[in-house]
Amino acid sequence: MPSRRRLALALAALGLPATAHPRAVVNDATLLNPVDVDRILVPRTVDEIVAALRTHAGPVSIGGARYSMGGQIAADRSLHLDMRGFDRVLHLNPAERRITVQPGITWRRIQAVIDPHDLALQVMQSYADFTVGGSLGVNAHGRYVGQGPLVSSVEAIRLILADGTLVAASPTRNSDLFYGAIGGYGGIGVIVEATLRLADNGPLERRTHVMPLSSYRRFFETRIGPDADAVMHNATLYPDDYTLVRAVTFSRTGRAVTLPNRLTATGGDYRIERRLQEVISASHCGKELRRRILEPLLYSTDSVEWRNHQAGLDIHSLAPLAGAGTAYALQEYFVPVAAMERFAQQLRAILRRHEVNVINVSIRHARKDPGTLLAWARTDVFAFVLYYRQQTAPRDREAVRAWTRELVDAATAQGGSFYLPYQIHATVAQFHAAYPDAGRFFALKRRVDPHNRFRNKLWDAYHVADGER
Ligand SMILES: Cc1cc2nc3c(=O)[nH]c(=O)nc-3n(C[C@H](O)[C@H](O)[C@H](O)COP(=O)(O)OP(=O)(O)OC[C@H]3O[C@@H](n4cnc5c(N)ncnc54)[C@H](O)[C@@H]3O)c2cc1C
Repeated sequence: MPSRRRLALALAALGLPATAHPRAVVNDATLLNPVDVDRILVPRTVDEIVAALRTHAGPVSIGGARYSMGGQIAADRSLHLDMRGFDRVLHLNPAERRITVQPGITWRRIQAVIDPHDLALQVMQSYADFTVGGSLGVNAHGRYVGQGPLVSSVEAIRLILADGTLVAASPTRNSDLFYGAIGGYGGIGVIVEATLRLADNGPLERRTHVMPLSSYRRFFETRIGPDADAVMHNATLYPDDYTLVRAVTFSRTGRAVTLPNRLTATGGDYRIERRLQEVISASHCGKELRRRILEPLLYSTDSVEWRNHQAGLDIHSLAPLAGAGTAYALQEYFVPVAAMERFAQQLRAILRRHEVNVINVSIRHARKDPGTLLAWARTDVFAFVLYYRQQTAPRDREAVRAWTRELVDAATAQGGSFYLPYQIHATVAQFHAAYPDAGRFFALKRRVDPHNRFRNKLWDAYHVADGER
């Protein structure tokens, strides 16, 4: 932090020891959000976390795999709990299709444990590198047909509150804590255990259809939603025109697999994929190359693969999120199903007017949230996931702020919402328009965390501001 650096220099000039130097920096995968913290603790036991909360007087922040992009994992001068070492499988019951894990474990490691039992995760993101804790913290979702936010596949959690108390929570027990902590971005307590429902693994056959965006909702409602065999589905809305969609569906099949690997191996060689991404992001021609040549070629082959293999995409197949003066970043907007075309039109107008370098827009369906206080799906929704490239100088970040706020307004005008793990650009008023139950979340936080100990950049932006309203 520049002010601390200046203080250190001033102290050195006076011949005094620089006691104010930062002790550690926590940053996320984009490297855009360095935060000076007091100390980093990598706990291995519940007792260590309880003891840390009871002995450390100041703020506490919590981090998983660090793929959120706006400082949601850290607060200035906090004790940072790096949960990545708290990652054991505690119990697996294959007959009841249920697993209990510590939250620092990644989806990929769970897949390796459940695959021999022909089981798969019921809901997870597209990539398998995230931790369970970070995914619960944001209440993530994936491409699963007939599913919604992750919370719907969680049977129970255990969490440690600000005073060091360990509590169990589920939809029927301490349900306020359950629905507050899941999707609560580390603001309610430290989740130390989660019991998740599992699904069957099995071969999935890939099918793809290209159509105008105007036909897509009907296609989804008549062909995909009602299809009991459809397991995963999403649609690519191609930039820079945003009128053509490629729908990709993975359905249960009795056919033999064409890809024998049951799991996606780690440490794969993704040089070609990364290079192609650079080409696609470099110009309009790159995007046309993808739409007209690369993807038709890719999807011309027959593909039947195991569910756990398709659900194991490796984030390293993407170009590194952080670059020199640039970053690849994400945003996501949710709108009620009936509003999807109206929102898509506004999305197109805003992205084109601001000449945003969008690489991909992925459209997914998600069912209504069962009750989290910070629900992003207050009804059944279509999600629009934007993957884009930006420059990172202050004026470029300002430019991103401007179009982000326009998109947030466009989504909330349709009764929709925006996703909170990404760069924090929305105003306090926009946050409340998208999350109308935030007042109940903050009331719960005041009750269980009266001294506002669980902090990070997200809650410093919206919770502290809430107190000042
Ligand atoms: C390339 C890419 C693709 C993505 N795709 C999807 C997608 O398909 N669907 C989707 O929903 N999201 C997606 N995301 C967003 C992603 O789900 C979130 O950023 C998620 O938080 C990442 O998990 P993590 O382990 O990195 O969490 P972190 O970023 O480390 O933490 C996220 C939040 O959870 C809190 N937290 C972490 N652990 C705990 C704990 N034990 N107890 C309490 N709070 C905790 C943190 O304080 C923080 O507020 C994507 C992100 C990227 C970069």
